[in-house]
Amino acid sequence: MATFVLLFSLISLSFCCISFAFEPSPLQDFCVANPMMPTRVNGLPCKNPATVEASDFFFSGLHLPGKTSNAVGSKVTPVSVAQLPGLNTLGISLVRIDYAPLGINPPHTHPRASEILTVIEGSLLVGFITSNPDNRFITKTLQKGDVFVFPVGLIHFQHNVGTGKAVAIAALSSQNPGVITIANAVFGSNPDINSDVLAKAFQVDKSIVNQIQTKF
Ligand code: MN
Repeated sequence: MATFVLLFSLISLSFCCISFAFEPSPLQDFCVANPMMPTRVNGLPCKNPATVEASDFFFSGLHLPGKTSNAVGSKVTPVSVAQLPGLNTLGISLVRIDYAPLGINPPHTHPRASEILTVIEGSLLVGFITSNPDNRFITKTLQKGDVFVFPVGLIHFQHNVGTGKAVAIAALSSQNPGVITIANAVFGSNPDINSDVLAKAFQVDKSIVNQIQTKF
């Protein structure tokens, strides 16, 4: 009997810890986010289902191009739980990405999501890098209608290699995928990472590190 209880506890424990690493499957039809409530679950607390309306499951405006007049020449328009409260607990979200000619969506990673990207307009060179020690670069040039997947957590980017602007729609496997843009995080942290650390990590002179830090 004791053995059975122990075994059951171990099995329960393993289920608990596996499920906490990901967004859990919903235990009700929906849990529309109520960001006003102070309590927190793994996500946001639910609005009273009786007061839920179609507008809670709705977002408008993804046909509008994002402004790409910036240093990298791209703009991401997110539709995650912050913009669409009905996404709470569902484990999915969407972005529109606009690219100026030669624009890039710079190397970045989503700590909580895989990403599946569809090219709607133009031509994109895309790629991701596998984890250590291989750091293999997996890359492809995509045309309109092509689809590519970036596995969860891996560093990836897109580069507009066509003659005009480009547009992509990407779905992500989290209501709140998060994003870490590598250059901004490493060279634009607040406060700065000590330049001795970055000089040694990147095997360059400290003056080069300081120069890059001023850009972020
Ligand atoms: Mn991405």
